[in-house]
Amino acid sequence: MQKTIKIDGFEISPQHYIGGQRVASPGCFEIFSPIDGRVLGQVAEGGDEHVAAAVAAARAAFPAWAALGPEKRLTYLRRFADEIGKRSDALCAAESNDAGVLLSRLQHGIVPRAMQNITWFAEAALTLQDKIIETTQARHYVRHDPAGVCAIITPWNSPLMLTTWKAGPALASGNTVVIKPPEWAPLTCSLLADAADAAGLPPGVFNVVQGLGSTTGARLVSDPGLARISFTGSGPTAKIIAQAAGANLTPCSFELGGKSPFIVLADADLDAAAATGALMYRNATQVCLAGTRFLVDVKVKDAFITRMRAVVEKLRVGDPRDPATEVGPIIHPRQFERVKGYVERAKAAGAQTLWGGAPHEYGALYYQPTMLTNVAQDSEIVQQEVFGPVLVLQTFNTDDEAVALANGTDYGLGGVCYGETTHAQAVAEQVRTGFIWVNSFGIRDLAAPFGGCKRSGVGREGGDWSFEFFCDVKDVVVPKHPFKASFSHR
Ligand code: ADP
Repeated sequence: MQKTIKIDGFEISPQHYIGGQRVASPGCFEIFSPIDGRVLGQVAEGGDEHVAAAVAAARAAFPAWAALGPEKRLTYLRRFADEIGKRSDALCAAESNDAGVLLSRLQHGIVPRAMQNITWFAEAALTLQDKIIETTQARHYVRHDPAGVCAIITPWNSPLMLTTWKAGPALASGNTVVIKPPEWAPLTCSLLADAADAAGLPPGVFNVVQGLGSTTGARLVSDPGLARISFTGSGPTAKIIAQAAGANLTPCSFELGGKSPFIVLADADLDAAAATGALMYRNATQVCLAGTRFLVDVKVKDAFITRMRAVVEKLRVGDPRDPATEVGPIIHPRQFERVKGYVERAKAAGAQTLWGGAPHEYGALYYQPTMLTNVAQDSEIVQQEVFGPVLVLQTFNTDDEAVALANGTDYGLGGVCYGETTHAQAVAEQVRTGFIWVNSFGIRDLAAPFGGCKRSGVGREGGDWSFEFFCDVKDVVVPKHPFKASFSHR
């Protein structure tokens, strides 16, 4: 297989990274750029032996990494973040080319955030072991002990951001990791392995096994050597992973996408709501946390539609490497056909197109920012996650109706609510969701919990919630008075 994949002048390894070594595979798979369909190269496809070797390397590295303690790990992890920073241009080239993510967003948002994902959790881990519960009887030291080898599986829409968001807390708290990158966008994870290597992370602490989900991924999640599985992706895949993990009782954290409401109350600042509404098309709406169901008070429906249309008409659809582009391509022909199919079926069922509704002339995998209305609550376009630039708009007459529509799907990941602040807050509080932004969108703090309820996920990550997941919480109990053994003692 080829030794490197060349992208915009950068050389990226398509091989696995196991136990501190680059490892080739007899098997490989081809990757394409959604920008123009060109072949980017061949990537190693991990077989059973590669997964087994990676888990073994991670298990072997675990005791020493866990024993290092958070301060020494912080030194390593700061170097790791620095090495990620040094590779910023390569990371941006890789993910704009293999996933079609906007280059400007990678440069100004995602790469800096990937570095913070590593350093923030490494610093937060310093205070992890300090939780003490004092009673008259005893002193309890509540420790967060690292759990062991953590498998990390992320989807193709934002692999750099999501992989570091999971690896950061896992490594900081003393675990070792085996990462299976998404097969449609595997290159940034390979560059992360270079960064880990250059930072001198001990061999086996950070491993990457490339491959397909249904083979390499499936083999990884069924490995009995894993202590945790952190997965972001689709619900159907999560069910398969849960079954495999169940055989070994491996704890899983799942973030599974959404169909989040974007509520516009009658007292909303409609210009602000429209500007934020148009942001939902960023990354061609291949974003789990986007608000994709617009719920608009009927009294302001026309005024809102006029304003949002005006913003959307100016959106620049095109090559994600062009700094002026605001909406890039859909990742893969299969995903493109899915998106197209959703729109065609919705139209056949009576949906009306407020704007868009067809492929975009820019190129084969580009789709027009689209808004459909006249859609029934129980229709698939309202109930299912499209993961493409297709939004729906429904109206309501009362707040109760807005809340009922907002809560009327199986998902519960995010949400947006525009209105006079206390009014919007009161409505937001009634939406069953993992998080909801009032008069804003996308404000994320690493200390805050992230995850979904209902079919949008199991568990939360972020801040303390990440550490709770990646650690075994242990209560060490030291009595304050001499302990007298007695069968009647409670
Ligand atoms: P998406 O539709 O977002 O691609 P998937 O859930 O299919 O969502 O994929 C998300 C990630 O899960 C990818 O990295 C993929 O390779 C991986 N994956 C898919 N199937 C499995 C599986 N059976 N076991 C483990 N990982 C899998």
